Amino acid sequence: MTQTPNFTRTDSAVRIVSLYPDLLGTYGDGGNALVLSRRLEWRGIAVEHITVDAGAPIPDSADLYLVGGGEDGPQVQATRELDRSQGLHRAVDKGAVVLAICAGMQILGHRFPDATGATRDGLGLLDCETVRVDRPRAVGELLTTDAKLTTRHGLVELGPLTGFENHAGRTVPGPTSLSLASVEVGEGNGDGSEGVITGTVVGTYLHGPALARNPRLADALLEWIVGPNAMTPLNDTDVNELRSERIHAARDHELAPRRSWRDVLKRS
Ligand code: GLN
Repeated sequence: MTQTPNFTRTDSAVRIVSLYPDLLGTYGDGGNALVLSRRLEWRGIAVEHITVDAGAPIPDSADLYLVGGGEDGPQVQATRELDRSQGLHRAVDKGAVVLAICAGMQILGHRFPDATGATRDGLGLLDCETVRVDRPRAVGELLTTDAKLTTRHGLVELGPLTGFENHAGRTVPGPTSLSLASVEVGEGNGDGSEGVITGTVVGTYLHGPALARNPRLADALLEWIVGPNAMTPLNDTDVNELRSERIHAARDHELAPRRSWRDVLKRS
């Protein structure tokens, strides 16, 4: 019988749930939970992190839920399970923050295409729709202009977001949603914007994992929960060096796989 995952502490720890890492865990998206947990611990804030596999009940008492990317088949299965559970819906109703990556974002929207191209209903927690387009799969570095996120404490400036993308679908943000930023390099949503925000639910095409490559995004999500006064500054010198390396590489297309494949083909 499936064990009911739940929190064990009763104090004021920040509660984080990684949803369905057994179905949605491509490209190291599980690292996002690690980044959030460490950034809380470094500030002396208690954290409790649990993972919930598909089929298990989803506790609706967490502060933050993480949904990762995945392939087309598991994506459909995850949608079915999330819909059946309704735990994530209840948590969002109560104000929980959600970060959904790639397939996760598509699932949380109104509709998305399955592996056959047929349209499937999503969960409707993000105001967007994902469609199949007559364009190649978006694979490569993804870099945005300066991103912004408005939490219940106000506007947070995130600087450029960096990561990589690998998706066939393109996402059309709906009228009640905001995007995180515009795309500078790569594809993002497909209309020049990147990411979808509806209320406390944030979706992005950024893998990396996204929060390791964009600690200001991690902190903005945490600030939403613990408030700005608890957000002691951390020393991000090392990660900022890596970020500028990646940002330059993306701008110079040094890391864009399509270009290097083209170069290889030209030479052979
Ligand atoms: N299966 C989806 C697509 O290809 C999402 C892929 C992903 O999560 N990386 O569009």
